[in-house]
Amino acid sequence: MLRSISICFLFLIPMRGSAAQLELKPYRVLIIISDQWKDPRSFLISGGGEFQTVVTLFKSWGIPFDILRLDQTLMDPNHFADFWGRPRYGAILWDVPDENVSDADQALVSDAVHRLHTSLIAIGNRVKQPRIQQLLGVHYKSEHMNSAHPMIKADSFVLRGLPVDLRQHGQGPDVISMRRVQVDVNDGKVLAEAGGVPQIIEREIDSDTRAIWIGGDIDQMLLYQSLRTALRRSVTEAIGYSLNKTWTKTVILTMDDMGNAQNAWLEHWHYPALTQEQIRHSLIEPLQAHHAVLSLNIVPGFVDDAQRRIVPTWRQQFTDEFGTKQDYVSTKKGLDEGVALGVLEIESHGWTHMQPDLSSPPGPWWGSPLMDERAEVGWYREFYDVRRNCEIVAAEQKFHMRQSADWIEKEFGQFPLEFSTGGNGVSRSPDNNTWRLAAEAGYGYYGGYLGRDLAVEGRADSNADFGGSDDVPLLLPAPADGHDRGIAHDPDGFAKVFDSYPGYTFT
Ligand SMILES: [Zn+2]
Repeated sequence: MLRSISICFLFLIPMRGSAAQLELKPYRVLIIISDQWKDPRSFLISGGGEFQTVVTLFKSWGIPFDILRLDQTLMDPNHFADFWGRPRYGAILWDVPDENVSDADQALVSDAVHRLHTSLIAIGNRVKQPRIQQLLGVHYKSEHMNSAHPMIKADSFVLRGLPVDLRQHGQGPDVISMRRVQVDVNDGKVLAEAGGVPQIIEREIDSDTRAIWIGGDIDQMLLYQSLRTALRRSVTEAIGYSLNKTWTKTVILTMDDMGNAQNAWLEHWHYPALTQEQIRHSLIEPLQAHHAVLSLNIVPGFVDDAQRRIVPTWRQQFTDEFGTKQDYVSTKKGLDEGVALGVLEIESHGWTHMQPDLSSPPGPWWGSPLMDERAEVGWYREFYDVRRNCEIVAAEQKFHMRQSADWIEKEFGQFPLEFSTGGNGVSRSPDNNTWRLAAEAGYGYYGGYLGRDLAVEGRADSNADFGGSDDVPLLLPAPADGHDRGIAHDPDGFAKVFDSYPGYTFT
């Protein structure tokens, strides 16, 4: 946005020599919470709620942040200042429901705002602490169900260009009422009101320091596009500049299963592996015609019945017991062609798409007749033991995750960014959590962010967190059915996706 560009260039380039005196704020936010992070090890974020939403948004927006959890941490002046005593953050996002934050702790926030010029943003009802209210220029009164929508009342950078009704129809869930936080305003500009009650307030504490409150029902407010945009703009306003990435009309096409063993062995999922010619006709040509990219979650390890071991998928050529020719060598040629043309990218769908233990009861799966154990779908799930209904232990999962990445790297020359499990078989206990293990194994995304700093557990519907909005791209299983199986049954089904999403970027 223009604001960000002008500020960056005006100050950074011409005045390089005296940058230290400029006090350009750090492009980093401190998110302060109380006990919303359910993982005591501060790694996995799961279970929904506004905290998970905020983390998802900040990761998707590309805004760097740290998290201060007051349930485990003693607030310290050094949370706000670096080794040199300079501010560590351009802004604080205050998401603390706990009313009993000590006065000393609140004073530290006040000190960061006044002395370090770190701006403050608070959301929803996280305004119950007296000194936080002082900084925001409000007095918290109460919170009740109400049907009024927040409406823009004054011109501001934070709300400029947004629909006057910030909960306009079609921008989020259609609900009759939600909780409205009621405050008195002592000092500050009212940017939006709901039924005459101030809902968004900006207070200029200093020429470069802001306190901004975005009111609303903490459980629902961020489901609305305009309020998410208001939060994002508030960060820009609070820091003074931003690097803006938007995902408007952006689709990430994904397709699962190439290289999996189900299509050769599982009766109800049986079809021939795609050939180079099929991949060229059904995928590469339409992708090229639309300057689009397709992410393929592939399976680099194959079950070899004769040897009873896992072997590289892309060397397999055989006629299966249904009498169908399976030519994974040809599949690989098609993948290589698409990768070279820049229209296919290779991601991980696990190592084998199979249960790690194919030998023990109720197996063995190895060598079993087609219409016996071989027909049980539970054997074809890798990261939760669907056949025996128990989790796969951590070390076993980790081995499979690393094997997948290693074999993909050996065959395609690239470490996969995305990880996705076969048949959504995942383990969720703290010790065996598939998201945490995938993050530790080096992956970057599985329905949610994965990194060395933290992992966000994806929802059952990976678009649950606003996929297809300005904030998060739409993750779209490629037609016809999100799998290579769809192409085998409907060779021209994939190309139709481009008619369904006119004007979109397929990144
Ligand atoms: Zn699969």
